[in-house]
Amino acid sequence: MFDYLIVGAGFAGSVLAERLASYSNKKVLVIDKRPHIGGNAYDHYNEDGILVHKYGPHIFHTNSKEVFEYLGQFTEWRSYEHRVLASVDGQQVPMPINLDTINQLYGLNLTSFELDKFFESVAEKVDVVRTSEDVVVSKVGRELYEKFFKHYTRKQWGMDPSELDKSVTSRVPTRTNRDDRYFTDTYQAMPLHGFTKMFEKMMDHPNIKIMLNTDYHEIIDFIPYKEMIFTGPVDEYFDFKFGKLPYRSLEFKHETLNKEVFQPVAVVNYPNDHLYTRITEFKYLTGQQHQKTSVVYEFPRAEGDPYYPVPRPENAELYNQYKKLAEATPNVHFVGRLATYKYYNMDQVVAQALTLHKKLMGNPKEELPELGGVSGIPQEVRQALNGSSTKLSTNG
Ligand SMILES: Cc1cc2nc3c(=O)[nH]c(=O)nc-3n(C[C@H](O)[C@H](O)[C@H](O)COP(=O)(O)OP(=O)(O)OC[C@H]3O[C@@H](n4cnc5c(N)ncnc54)[C@H](O)[C@@H]3O)c2cc1C
Repeated sequence: MFDYLIVGAGFAGSVLAERLASYSNKKVLVIDKRPHIGGNAYDHYNEDGILVHKYGPHIFHTNSKEVFEYLGQFTEWRSYEHRVLASVDGQQVPMPINLDTINQLYGLNLTSFELDKFFESVAEKVDVVRTSEDVVVSKVGRELYEKFFKHYTRKQWGMDPSELDKSVTSRVPTRTNRDDRYFTDTYQAMPLHGFTKMFEKMMDHPNIKIMLNTDYHEIIDFIPYKEMIFTGPVDEYFDFKFGKLPYRSLEFKHETLNKEVFQPVAVVNYPNDHLYTRITEFKYLTGQQHQKTSVVYEFPRAEGDPYYPVPRPENAELYNQYKKLAEATPNVHFVGRLATYKYYNMDQVVAQALTLHKKLMGNPKEELPELGGVSGIPQEVRQALNGSSTKLSTNG
């Protein structure tokens, strides 16, 4: 008899398996329908021996000392600060928009003070800020909105920013200094030997058994267990009783090139050209030295694996129906991005799982944190829209 059946071997499932097995001495079975552990953060060496992220680039960053130190038990870190360029008007300029972005784009030589004035002069007056479009144009004007946000968002979401709730963003891109880091978190680092090695170490414990290539429906009636931790899609758990929760998906096109370097930074965004949104070159993330280089193109899709919950009020309402059902289901604990229908960064999921563990171990008042995440917004869009500022917290 297992104490816990954990469905899903991503961050949520792996952290709980580790805590329950090694801290609480519980017997745990982890199952995943995929042929590997690590969930969406899974990385592997491709046929050319280059370490790549199968489900798109995963960059670790957090303001939480607890999360950073917890994961640090299972990996050494390699310091890494992420940088992104956007391909606009035939140039590659820093993203989020900063002083250099504007100077380079318009061939100017503004100071930070002058850039403030520039933003003021181009900002549109919007009486009631309702949509994502309103938020951006009211701060940096229509031209920059169109160059950097409008088409990127339409590609990413299949929806115009004017149809996306203003809650998608509360701030706009206004870095008036030259800081070109994508994230401003206290801890920015990548696992030295990759995410999968870190997951292997986490789950290397005699109390943990792992079963891959297994959908939980296949075993649920045969495996004896006391409690379940469910990190899969919450609507699937309840047989889509109230309808399907909508997600936006991605198709990843991986490519290895016979050259050492492909582009100047890890990620280049394509807001206006091409069907893909961005290209990532993995060696920047991993620090690997290799004569060849591997890149991945991301093509947004309406159908496919569930990646991004769609941030619209009607979807939040639908999720709330499932949430009520989940809360009323005894001995099953719903945790992680699919089970709570929220876009969470990795560190946020780790924090959520650590909190659930504390709660399971007899601290029932412990509430699962919302962690300041704006639900449903991919870090790419959120960062772009939030833009600047040291105010950006753990949210991508
Ligand atoms: C393209 C992309 C880029 C991202 N980049 C970043 C980034 O740079 N930084 C960052 O912090 N975060 C990033 N994220 C977010 C990150 O992927 C998540 O925070 C993290 O993977 C969530 O972990 P999880 O365990 O909740 O979910 P998952 O990793 O999705 O794990 C859930 C697991 O459950 C399994 N499962 C589902 N249904 C079943 C079933 N019926 N039976 C058995 N198993 C099942 C799935 O196969 C999966 O392995 C990114 C996400 C995407 C989509």
